[in-house]
Amino acid sequence: MTNSVVIVGAGEAGGQTAISLRQGGYDGTITVIGDEPYIPYERPALSKQFLAGELDMERLYLRAEAFYDERDIALKLDGWVDAITPGQSVAMSDGEVEPAASIVLATGGRVRPLPVDGADLSGVHFLRTIDDVLAFRDRLKPNTKLAIVGGGYIGLEVAAVATKLGCAVTVLEMTNRVLNRVAAPVVSDFYTRVHREAGVDIRTDVTVSGFEGDTTVKQVVCTDGSRIDTDVVIIGIGIIPNVELAEAAGLAVENGITVDAMTRTSAETVYAVGDCTNHPNDLLGRRLRLESVQNALSQGKTAANAILGKAEPYAEIPWFWSDQYDIKLQMVGINDPDDQVIVRGDSNSRSFSVCYLRDGVLVAVNALNRPKDFIHAKKAIAAKVTPDSQRLADPEVPIKSL
Ligand SMILES: Cc1cc2nc3c(=O)[nH]c(=O)nc-3n(C[C@H](O)[C@H](O)[C@H](O)COP(=O)(O)OP(=O)(O)OC[C@H]3O[C@@H](n4cnc5c(N)ncnc54)[C@H](O)[C@@H]3O)c2cc1C
Repeated sequence: MTNSVVIVGAGEAGGQTAISLRQGGYDGTITVIGDEPYIPYERPALSKQFLAGELDMERLYLRAEAFYDERDIALKLDGWVDAITPGQSVAMSDGEVEPAASIVLATGGRVRPLPVDGADLSGVHFLRTIDDVLAFRDRLKPNTKLAIVGGGYIGLEVAAVATKLGCAVTVLEMTNRVLNRVAAPVVSDFYTRVHREAGVDIRTDVTVSGFEGDTTVKQVVCTDGSRIDTDVVIIGIGIIPNVELAEAAGLAVENGITVDAMTRTSAETVYAVGDCTNHPNDLLGRRLRLESVQNALSQGKTAANAILGKAEPYAEIPWFWSDQYDIKLQMVGINDPDDQVIVRGDSNSRSFSVCYLRDGVLVAVNALNRPKDFIHAKKAIAAKVTPDSQRLADPEVPIKSL
């Protein structure tokens, strides 16, 4: 078979794989198939500047359209892949069959639905794609009542943008604190305070049992009997990795498509990259599935190298960020609920860091408006430093000196 790569999914990971293949000198055909009508784009701004109307759509694109034309990368948009046959081809729902010596699964994830009555009413939205944002962005006007289900990063970022646009925002979180799965209580408390000061009604320990309205949502109903009047609802309760194609092809799947450090799946010549993968990370000594730009781009580059015969294992300390109001939160490493938590600086201010230690080893840092802590922590975590707790707690002592 002639040299050919078909990439399923035109998100950041799929787009980056195609770009890196050509940049690495791949001279076969490259086809990227994606079900959205857009060329590969970056999602983070969807809950930040793009939602706020501060960024044009073109600024989301990984590369301009001409880039793909000039490099002979075929983009098949609005197209759905039904099945893959490793080492042979990719079948699309319109009947077309693409020959594929190598296949890269970059299928990402889809929003987790909320299976309650009224979830199909008009005015109830999710947030994953450009089209999702375009469906509700114009409705975020002064005095619009917005209810957000889920107090994770995306929900809180939307709350910050909508509040700035003048909406009356309520955040409904099922557990006892926002950011429960991802950060220490001190970080949750900080964001709860900041949002409340901005006028957001943050409610924890509330479970949404349904939405009511004739055809358009008018109220959110909770299991404790409370009701919240609303004009718009945004549900942000996580994603489900798209693994069905891999499963149907008999590939190993366990909380994501199982890949090795070179992004190789259990089937020869099939690779997987981005949010849909479960991969090993030697630096962390564990397998994990990540939902982050850094991982999507790095795995895309890794897959391209593997296809080019220059396979190099991918392992990076994961990092992520969130923008809310004037606060840039930068996170590096993966923390667990049992980690020892040390606060650097004053958590009542808008600039401090939260450090996580496991058996004395620095494993993660959340830096709030402290970019230097973030940069130094990346190296310190990779070096598995065991800092003195008192010095770590002192914001005047640079992390790099520990
Ligand atoms: C609102 C929002 C804010 C975010 N903010 C941040 C942030 O601040 N920092 C950060 O690091 N990360 C952030 N993320 C996460 C980050 O955007 C993702 O980790 C990244 O986009 C993953 O890229 P991906 O290519 O793996 O998957 P995706 O972006 O999900 O792309 C996969 C694409 O493949 C398509 N597809 C799936 N199956 C098929 C099929 N069978 N046929 C055709 N097409 C298919 C999907 O529809 C999708 O278009 C954010 C995400 C969202 C939604």
